[in-house]
Amino acid sequence: MAINVTRSSLPDFEEYCEEIKELWDSRWLTNNGVKHKQLEKELKKYLNVSNITLFTNGHLALENILEAMGFEEGGEVITTPFTFVSTTHAIVRSGLKPVFCDINRDDYTIDVSQIESLITDKTVAVIPVHVYGNLCDTDAIEAIAEKYGLKVIYDAAHAFGVTKNGVSSACFGDASMFSFHATKVFHTVEGGAVCYSDEKLSPLLNDIKNFGIHGPEDVLYVGGNAKMGELHAAMGICNLRHIDEEIKKRGEADKRYRERLSGVEGIKLCARQDGVKPNYSYFPVLFDGEKFNRDDIAQRLAEKGFNTRKYFYPLTNSVSCYRGKPGCEVSKTPVAYQTANNILTLPMFAGLERESVDSICDCILSAK
Ligand SMILES: *Cc1c(COP(=O)(O)O)cnc(C)c1O
Repeated sequence: MAINVTRSSLPDFEEYCEEIKELWDSRWLTNNGVKHKQLEKELKKYLNVSNITLFTNGHLALENILEAMGFEEGGEVITTPFTFVSTTHAIVRSGLKPVFCDINRDDYTIDVSQIESLITDKTVAVIPVHVYGNLCDTDAIEAIAEKYGLKVIYDAAHAFGVTKNGVSSACFGDASMFSFHATKVFHTVEGGAVCYSDEKLSPLLNDIKNFGIHGPEDVLYVGGNAKMGELHAAMGICNLRHIDEEIKKRGEADKRYRERLSGVEGIKLCARQDGVKPNYSYFPVLFDGEKFNRDDIAQRLAEKGFNTRKYFYPLTNSVSCYRGKPGCEVSKTPVAYQTANNILTLPMFAGLERESVDSICDCILSAK
């Protein structure tokens, strides 16, 4: 059987059935039900935040927090193209303009030394991405944001459970978006959340995600529908019980990959970040394009039944819907461009067997 780049975690079938049983009695399936409330409470504790709002997915969590922050149409948002297209789409669909900044060579997060040169009088926010769970240089980003009066909203879709010097990844900037998609380290099948520092945003977000309805007889905003249902919240409650064990198991696969691939000429792995507790969400490998060719290796692995992903390729500023638009020249983000052309994420999930990791590494190393 083929091994995919990821495999969704699942609780025991019986555990999930037990969790959803009371819903068959209450018949309350969505709209801030008991499971929703419980998951919100447990996530607050796990992520160590005071404010969290759940959503039907991570993408809408990001769109909704942008809406709640009330930016003026046409405002510029500094972000990176080395991300899932959701980040860029959320900015554009919110009537804002993405301004692309290049990334670091080592951890693939935003190159903070270039942010200030991209700020104009139209800049309203920065949306950096904690790529692969590598944390951005939050201190530098937040110092710049303070100096220029910008909001900082992290795309923390990859960074669930990651901490820096004991501080949760959910606590940086003005807000952080998490994705609870089935492929993420922690999931609710589909789902997402936003954590934020300003508690006043809480009633606003709850209204916006429910058609703008405020109380039984009035509608305050032109909101959409982005609520998380009870069956999804119940999946989250079950998965959260096992999250530390899941992350630990991923760590074992990560360790074996590193033992096999570290120090090999032509192969670059993500370095551990100082003070950061990782969640092992992905295992990206950067090939040099000479000794090792990314596309060739992806194909060799696929032939052996190991499905990898060119993640993130192509860059968001070069997909059809953005290519050629002003500001979307890939020449402005050369490090991101080079990275996207040479990176491959290898299979990574809890329960990935050591033998599989070894076969994957053997296949890569024999490709030289
Ligand atoms: C998964 C992901 C999203 C979108 O989250 P969904 O829950 O799928 O809507 C956004 N940004 C990044 C970086 C992601 O990996």
